[in-house]
Amino acid sequence: MDEKRCLLCNKPYNYKYEMFGRGCLDNLYDLLGISKSPRIIWNKELYLCTRIAWKNHKFFLNKKKKYVLAQKYIALSYLNKMNYETLNDIKEKISNDIKNIKAFSKNIVETISISLNEIYKLFNYTQKFNELLEKSKEINWKEIDKNVAENFIESISFIFDLTKRNSPISYAVFYAMQYMFWQVVVVGGILANMKLSARLLSNSLSLFGNEPKDLIIEDKEVIENIQKSEEFNNKIKEIIKKYCKDKDKFKDNSENNEDCIIEFNNKDLFLAIHGSPTSIEIEKNVDETWKVNMLIEDTYDFTEFKELKKYATSNESLPMSIFSSILNNFGVVSSKYGVLKPYKVTIKVQKNKFVIK
Ligand SMILES: [Zn+2]
Repeated sequence: MDEKRCLLCNKPYNYKYEMFGRGCLDNLYDLLGISKSPRIIWNKELYLCTRIAWKNHKFFLNKKKKYVLAQKYIALSYLNKMNYETLNDIKEKISNDIKNIKAFSKNIVETISISLNEIYKLFNYTQKFNELLEKSKEINWKEIDKNVAENFIESISFIFDLTKRNSPISYAVFYAMQYMFWQVVVVGGILANMKLSARLLSNSLSLFGNEPKDLIIEDKEVIENIQKSEEFNNKIKEIIKKYCKDKDKFKDNSENNEDCIIEFNNKDLFLAIHGSPTSIEIEKNVDETWKVNMLIEDTYDFTEFKELKKYATSNESLPMSIFSSILNNFGVVSSKYGVLKPYKVTIKVQKNKFVIK
């Protein structure tokens, strides 16, 4: 005899029921808010399916249709409990399939096929995710403890699973979890003190099916942070010394002049700005100071998985480096899901009187 496996938890069982083990059947009564069957009822599974049919105002279904209806209705109940907007289309299809189960029609028409076991597993993932998200509210991101942070990141990394894109239902669920992760944890927590990084990231975070707008950064604070940075000042000084010995002007927009690459040490700028300036213009003023125009044009995206060491070259503390490489790698996964989308970012930095000290 074939081994029976529970449609919900996929564990083997040998009770008389056709779809579910006894434990899962009990839980389903609770999940659906259907009061337990009277003792006199011999087949509690069939009884549940009949009650589900009644709930849906279907009164003359044969047993087979009742069982199919019950599966769809249970699936829908789990999806409703997950409460993600990304599931709306799928829920609508299942609702329609439920509507189309009729007592006197010959066939059962299906627009979406579902696996209760898949949905059950997804539901458990979301429960775990919600717990972690709740926990993350207790973390003090300003004085971040390395172990706490690493444990948290490690435990939540299951939502960045590329293989879950393969079915539309799990794609929608994992999309939603990743969206919430970036919104709540990263933008609101980890990057709370890093205005530019947080802003760039939140602009990349796209609602299901939407495209981000390009961004021009004009915040005084950001521009001043760049102007004040040692890296910016040293770089301009180097360029003037090297290229303006007997000239009053320097202009470069080649994008691959190694002399123009600036790597910022400030953790916010470091995380936010990758690549070199697209153009630098320097011109001597009459009072021997220099006028500097720098343009940084970058595509904000996460394209490649990064090794830890690439980030560890920064002067920032090691936890920050570990963090940024992990977040980068999560970002690559979310890009493949379309949760994070690329866009163009432009930063204009101007300094009218640059003085070489
Ligand atoms: Zn089960």
